[in-house]
Amino acid sequence: MEVDDDVFAAAFHDFTKRLGKNYPFFHPSYAGHMVRPPHSAATIGYLAAMLVNPNNHAFDGGPATVEMEKEVVAQLSGMFGFGTSLGHLTTSGTIANLEALYVARELRPGRGVAFSEEAHFTHSRMCRVLGLESHAVRADSRGRMDVEALEGLLRTQRIGTVVLTAGTTGLGAVDPIHEVLALRERYDIRIHVDAAYGGFFTLLRGSDTAEALPPEPWQAISRCDSVVVDPHKHGLQPYGCGAVLFNDPDVNRFYAHDSPYTYCAPAEFNPGETSLECSRAGAAAAALWLTFQVLPPTPSGLGQVLGAGRRAALEWSARIASSETLELYQEPELDIVTYFPVVRPASMRLVDQTSAAMLESGATEADAVFLSTLKVRSDALVSRHPGITADASEARIIRSALMKPEFEDFIPYLHYRVEALAVSHTELR
Ligand SMILES: *Cc1c(COP(=O)(O)O)cnc(C)c1O
Repeated sequence: MEVDDDVFAAAFHDFTKRLGKNYPFFHPSYAGHMVRPPHSAATIGYLAAMLVNPNNHAFDGGPATVEMEKEVVAQLSGMFGFGTSLGHLTTSGTIANLEALYVARELRPGRGVAFSEEAHFTHSRMCRVLGLESHAVRADSRGRMDVEALEGLLRTQRIGTVVLTAGTTGLGAVDPIHEVLALRERYDIRIHVDAAYGGFFTLLRGSDTAEALPPEPWQAISRCDSVVVDPHKHGLQPYGCGAVLFNDPDVNRFYAHDSPYTYCAPAEFNPGETSLECSRAGAAAAALWLTFQVLPPTPSGLGQVLGAGRRAALEWSARIASSETLELYQEPELDIVTYFPVVRPASMRLVDQTSAAMLESGATEADAVFLSTLKVRSDALVSRHPGITADASEARIIRSALMKPEFEDFIPYLHYRVEALAVSHTELR
């Protein structure tokens, strides 16, 4: 159907105007949520494949991109130290976690799922979808799962699966995966690792650089039962790209189904046959494949990109720690920095109001900076900052995910701007 050029031009004019409502996600003045444009290799790979529009639901829907999917999944498995594993791309981390919990339910029928109170909110939701009992385990003073509390719960024998988070969405805290793995010798549990946000940080484990991460929890992932990572977070991909990996390729049997329309496939394995979803964008696999050709998931490839964000987080947190107007909520473990304005009187209510005001005026003033807030409970805030009065049950603090390498050169300015925002809102009182 032909469309008149003028009609299209008018529509496109409105379209671009509406897109202008977005925040400048590409720029380091955007230091809020985990949003950033894809790498050019991903954009080009996605666009080129999308013009063909293959569907990775089955080999015959996208013979070329199914092959690419197998290769990128093998690279992701290798990154976590999984051997002959099974896995596929998904539309999102939420769907990937749902699949891991579905397989867990089949293998531990009638038993519940434990995750930390800092775990992603979708776990309890997906447990409800799957008809599974779920238990939130207390987090310690750094936002990591409290292993003693977990063990108390395991003693009840009600838990079949433990979900550990490698990089919580709020604080970037890494659960003690290696310690929980040791509990598997005493309790009959499956261990699933939700590394949707943090997974690619495994590339920084145990190096001799300033941004290196303690290797133990990351190394332990190789012995866990399943792991989820989102290439659309730290893998530089456009949205629509998560991944689930299973250590034991035998779990394949839980995906068994028969389809009258598809699968004139070669006898060998194809990822579309082990997915709960049917249609999946072949373009997502293509984008990730092309990105991994130029920036493979290795310390010297993608690891360099993550290293820069991690160094930025270290530098900024050091500046905040010696600031008189800002206070660090806790040391960043990955690239998420959490902080709040110094207020007088030091009360939760004032921290909350001032953080929210900084967020709002930051986004509207000239020389805008874009932040995001994180709600924290009074016990969590007061245990870290005993001088603050708990006159409310929760407070918003400020959270900046530094997931672009450009932050590294921008921290002095960002810090200067955020301090100025804090000053302007505390002096108004
Ligand atoms: C983002 C995130 C999810 C959800 O992934 P989506 O891709 O947004 O569906 C799950 N767990 C963690 C730890 C996350 O950071």
